[in-house]
Amino acid sequence: MKIGFDIDDTLINLREHAFHIYNKKLNQNIPIEIFHSLPTLEIHKPFGLSDQEGQEMWKNTMENIYFSDCPPFPHALEMINELKNAGHEIYYITSRPFAHCERTRSWLIQAGFPVTPGSFFCGMKDLEKINIIKELGIDYYFDDKPTVLETLRDLGINVYVKNSSYNKHLDLPRIECWSVWKKIFNEK
Ligand SMILES: [Mg+2]
Repeated sequence: MKIGFDIDDTLINLREHAFHIYNKKLNQNIPIEIFHSLPTLEIHKPFGLSDQEGQEMWKNTMENIYFSDCPPFPHALEMINELKNAGHEIYYITSRPFAHCERTRSWLIQAGFPVTPGSFFCGMKDLEKINIIKELGIDYYFDDKPTVLETLRDLGINVYVKNSSYNKHLDLPRIECWSVWKKIFNEK
């Protein structure tokens, strides 16, 4: 099978990692419960930042957020490696900016994710993600972002949403924790 994954907030806990970095950088101590109830993808509001300040903050902190020690979600590494060893094709499809693509690829490998030639797609806008997923003939696709998933579902691809506080409204099969991965693939 061909199995595709978004990276940030699907395989790795990036926003929460960024939230800790913001607390440190802004010398604040906003409780993590606030993070877990955020209705938006963006995390800057609780820090008292305007949308523009939030965008600046993300841009200026991106390098640190991406290439420090962001933890994979529990069981994500085990899942990907076992799927790969069982002969499935694993694809990574991320919207991270082009400037960070090569380092992201290296970071993934260093973090223990198997990345083979032709399996890593980076710098993808939403529509490009959708097109590449169609082109590759992906059987299963996992992401946290509502718009991408809704479009793919309408194309008949098996899609799952990785649970986040900002995507609760989405009526799709939902992954709370990757510990359920065997059940997903055995069911079909
Ligand atoms: Mg994501």
